Amino acid sequence: MDKAAMRAEAERLMREAMERKAVVVKQGDTRIMATCGKCGAANKISAPRGETRVKYACKECGHSQIAM
Ligand SMILES: [Zn+2]
Repeated sequence: MDKAAMRAEAERLMREAMERKAVVVKQGDTRIMATCGKCGAANKISAPRGETRVKYACKECGHSQIAM
């Protein structure tokens, strides 16, 4: 691989990394691990950006609650 090809490869990787970052920023969701208050199961939930109280239903027992 010559220098030009190496540079092109480096730029391609950089561009891909930036695109991945842009996607993450666009989604803007926060992943929260919440423990069910009824059965104690761990629930992985996604909250909108800036939202700290999220209503969800437990995946194990279906109990609705608010995660913080
Ligand atoms: Zn539960």
